[in-house]
This record gives sequence, structure tokens and C-alpha cells, in this order.
Amino acid sequence: MNILDELKDAKIVGITGHVRPDGDCVGSTMGLYNFLKVNRPDLDVRIFLQKPGDEFNYIPRIDEIRQETDINLVCDAFVVLDCSSLDRIEPFAELFCNAKKTICLDHHISNKDFADVNLVEPDWSSTSEVLYTTLDEEKIDKDVATCIYTGIIHDTGVFKYSCTSKQTMAIAGKCMEKGIDYSDIIDNSFYAKTYIQNQILGRALLESVLFYDGKCIFSSISREIMDFYGVDGKSLGGIVEQLRLTEGVEVAIFMYEIGEGEYKVSLRSKKIIDVAKIAAKFDGGGHVRAAGFSIKGTVHGIINQIGALIEEQVKQLS
Ligand code: AMP
Ligand code: MN
Ligand code: MN
Repeated sequence: MNILDELKDAKIVGITGHVRPDGDCVGSTMGLYNFLKVNRPDLDVRIFLQKPGDEFNYIPRIDEIRQETDINLVCDAFVVLDCSSLDRIEPFAELFCNAKKTICLDHHISNKDFADVNLVEPDWSSTSEVLYTTLDEEKIDKDVATCIYTGIIHDTGVFKYSCTSKQTMAIAGKCMEKGIDYSDIIDNSFYAKTYIQNQILGRALLESVLFYDGKCIFSSISREIMDFYGVDGKSLGGIVEQLRLTEGVEVAIFMYEIGEGEYKVSLRSKKIIDVAKIAAKFDGGGHVRAAGFSIKGTVHGIINQIGALIEEQVKQLS
């Protein structure tokens, strides 16, 4: 696919991603936005997204993101990136569906091709990697490369998850050639933590529980604790990755309360368990080694349900 060809006849184009945007979502949507701003100056292009975390403030034109929906707007084309289903285009799904043509670029195995035109590569590291292949290389400038590199490092955990391929590295290398500040991008958007974030991370680790002979680990953060520290879910990124690093652990589970008795659950595995399969049972999704879902219940009730599904997979594998 060539995105300029797909948008050839369009005059108004919308761009969006998934609810609670992560690094790949911000990187891929802003990458396309910056690309179109320079290469289609005639276009009325608008980006709709929930507010990204402050660690992404270095992304060019990030302040042009619109957080309010506009249901009266009819776009000629609307591109959604890094989003596996319509219900995750929150709160812009209606706006997206109003468009004359819808396009989806994604890498979630659970994606069911819900747009008019779909480019879904489940084996690829990130949607930013997918986006890169739809752009003319010579038209990619430093700003676009900054966005794409951001998406890649976030979804590969800085090139270490199993989704990282030779192509991923080649594209990252091409982005480096555009003169991006790659060390700063990694430090400031991926590793940097505020004092409060470190405190909550410490608390989550302190209160984590090992189970199944140390093969699984979980931790949770209640609304009460989030209110105490004055943070939202955006400040809790990285906790599940740290849990996953625990020696001997195969599956890490982290959850935080998003509403009264409702939790956002993150799952990570090292080598054996397919967490996308587990997330799918709860209407969530993701990838084999990183997936998530939202669910109502109590922490222990949810852990018991996930534990049973892990056990089921272990039985099938043995
Ligand atoms: P997270 O644990 O939120 O970092 O998500 C890990 C991976 O699973 C990311 O690629 C997410 O896009 C995906 N994911 C998380 N929650 C959901 C969900 N409810 N539905 C589909 N995919 C999800
Ligand atoms: Mn994402
Ligand atoms: Mn992604």
C-alpha cells in the first residue's frame, strides 16, 4: 500500500488511534500526520486522540492533537492506526465511521479487518513499522522519522521483545539516517520516570505476589492509591515490564482500577504462554507476548480466572 495513493482524491482526512494511546499509537498516528502536513500541504488533515503522556511532548506537532470529537465532520478518508477493533477508537468511533473511506494500519493478530482498506501485519513489531512501508522513503523527514522510531522502540521494549526483526532494525536504522536524536528519544520517552512514577512502581513491586511456583507474578494498583499519588493510568506504564523481568517468571499480570470495580489488565509472557489468547477470552487483544483487556470484578477473582486459563495452556502444552 502507498498511503499517498490511497488518499489521492481526499480533501479532508482524519487520523486516529486507540484509547489510552501508547508509544506506538502516538508514534504511528503523529508520523502519518507529520508526513501528510509536509507532503500534502493542500490537505485538511486532522488528528483525534486522547491526550498522550507528557513524555511524548518532543513529538513534532503533538499540540495539534484534537481531543474533542466532531460528529458533524464528514472526512473523505479516515485512517486509524494501531487499533484492532472499532470499540477501541474511543471516543472517535462515530466520527471514524462517518468518513467516506476508512483505512486501518495495524499489527494486532486480533484485528478483524473492520475498515474499508486494511493493512494488518501481525508478525511485525509495531504499527509504526507498518506505516513506514506505506510511505515513500525519500519523502520521510526527521520529524516523521522521530515519530516512527518512537513507535518502534516502545513496542519492541527498545529492540528486545521477540517481535523485533531484521526489518525492524533496518527501518530503525533508516530513521537514524534522517538525523533523529535517538538517545534522547529512548531516554526521555521510554526510560525516564517522574519521582511519583518511581514511587508507584516501587509500591507495585513491593506488593507483588508470586504464584504457580514462581512462574507467574501479579500486582495491582487501586483507585485509592492512584488518587493518593494524584496520577492516572498513563503514569503506570512500565510496571508490567518490570514484573516480567522477575527471574523464573513466565507470565506477569498488572492491573489498575479504571472505574468502580473495573480494571485494566496488562499481560506479558516470556517464552511459552500465549497471552493474546487469554486476553481474547475477555474481549481484549494484543500480541502473543503482550496483551490486555478491561474487566469488572475483584483483583483476586480476576487473577483466579486468568490463572485457570494459564493452567489450561500449560496442560495443552505438556
Ligand atoms: P497494554 O498491556 O495495554 O500495554 O497492551 C499490550 C498490547 O495489547 C498492546 O499492543 C495493546 O494495543 C493490546 N491491547 C491492550 N488492551 C487491549 C484490548 N482491550 N483490546 C485489544 N488489544 C489490547
Ligand atoms: Mn498500542
Ligand atoms: Mn502497537
